[in-house]
Amino acid sequence: MNIEKLNKYQGVVDLHTHTVASSHAYSTIYEYINMAADKGVKLIGCSDHGTELSDGAFHKWHFLNLKCVPSYCEGVIILKGIEANIREDGSTDCNDSFLDVLDYVMAGFHAPVCCGNNDVQRNTKLLKKVICSGTVDIISHPANCRYPIDIEEIVKDSLKHNVALEINSSAYSRTGENNENMAVDLIRCAKSYNAPLIIGSDAHICYGLAEFELACRLFEKAECPLSYALNDSPKKLLEFLISRNHSKLDDLLQYCG
Ligand SMILES: [Zn+2]
Ligand SMILES: [Zn+2]
Repeated sequence: MNIEKLNKYQGVVDLHTHTVASSHAYSTIYEYINMAADKGVKLIGCSDHGTELSDGAFHKWHFLNLKCVPSYCEGVIILKGIEANIREDGSTDCNDSFLDVLDYVMAGFHAPVCCGNNDVQRNTKLLKKVICSGTVDIISHPANCRYPIDIEEIVKDSLKHNVALEINSSAYSRTGENNENMAVDLIRCAKSYNAPLIIGSDAHICYGLAEFELACRLFEKAECPLSYALNDSPKKLLEFLISRNHSKLDDLLQYCG
């Protein structure tokens, strides 16, 4: 399985989706699973916002009860995740009690939990702390001009700690030439160090699942093959998470074909 072999812009693995548990998103897990089955997406993850995103998040019980969601149905592997919020002190709002239930943790900057700031040193220091924490597997949308960072420093740390940096393909919230240039620089730098990258749709409705048009253009500009991303196959993605101590995901390799 290879994302370049389906249609030009659609992926087969997407770990960045929001369900109705994020108050500004409009599809259920069930709708995402059915959409995945229809589109031929092989592995999806639900990553609703951490509990501290005030009106944009749900109660902690949402995460604690994700164990009732099946890990495989309709030919689709389903991982349970979170898009945690990075706090002003470099910790996140992913409660330790969630870790037994979750298959992966993603974390990113979101206002008002941590507001945008032009201080590159501050933003880089906060991200480095998150990357070193050991509990976060993916940094969501690190290429965001509201939070400028020292890209090379972050890439070097992500390689050292085996944390994936996301190239966000959401067309509605993070477009803009500056963000795109920053993302291209990030892809180039990550590839030169052989650091892990992942593409995420950041879908807020099931139709956006695994729609990677923006990310595809950015990879093209950076002269990096899409196959470099962890989304290249469900197996590649699972093996990455297993290498990060999510050993219980071993059981799902049987569904990778
Ligand atoms: Zn986000
Ligand atoms: Zn998101």
